[in-house]
Amino acid sequence: MQTQIKACRRCQEAGYIPCAQPIVSGRIADQVFVIGQAPGHRSVANNKPWSGPAGLLLQRWLEQAGFPAGYLYEHAYLSSLTHCDPGKNPRGNGDRKPSRQETELCRPFLDAELRLVQPRVVLLVGTMAIETFFGKTRLEDLIGTYTERDGTLFLPLPHPSGVSRWLNDLQHQQLLQQALQLLAQWRIAYEL
Ligand code: SF4
Repeated sequence: MQTQIKACRRCQEAGYIPCAQPIVSGRIADQVFVIGQAPGHRSVANNKPWSGPAGLLLQRWLEQAGFPAGYLYEHAYLSSLTHCDPGKNPRGNGDRKPSRQETELCRPFLDAELRLVQPRVVLLVGTMAIETFFGKTRLEDLIGTYTERDGTLFLPLPHPSGVSRWLNDLQHQQLLQQALQLLAQWRIAYEL
């Protein structure tokens, strides 16, 4: 599957991105599966998802839940709604969100990865990943809660990017802590 993803050029051929450089990272035995929005330019340059500051913060959140240093890159399967970088937002404020057409083209890869890996826990990171699985919603209604589907635990998390201001609110920080407590309990219960 990863070989097929790396060879994909669908979005380039459709004219959505100038150059497709799909990123994949993870092992079939990984029990924690991370779904983000899309890789950014740093991840493409390093050929490693979550290479920027958001990845460092996501790893720190995992450490708050008791996971060891390096867990994100060494033991978590890292996927996203699109496996290629959509490029910069034309308004100049951060990364462009992938369009519905791009996420639809890439969705079969994400679904195939989920089927192959069959993770115990899926971390839905950021609004776009959360809404893809739960529909349109407010972050404050979902962060700190989880849903179990076919034996897999889906945990929504806010995006750990500096662009998101959601975490500036103290109550939202408390919701994040609730989510990390759930993760800490699962780490022990399921030996993640
Ligand atoms: S984003 Fe997904 S569907 Fe589009 S070119 Fe990259 S791998 Fe292919």
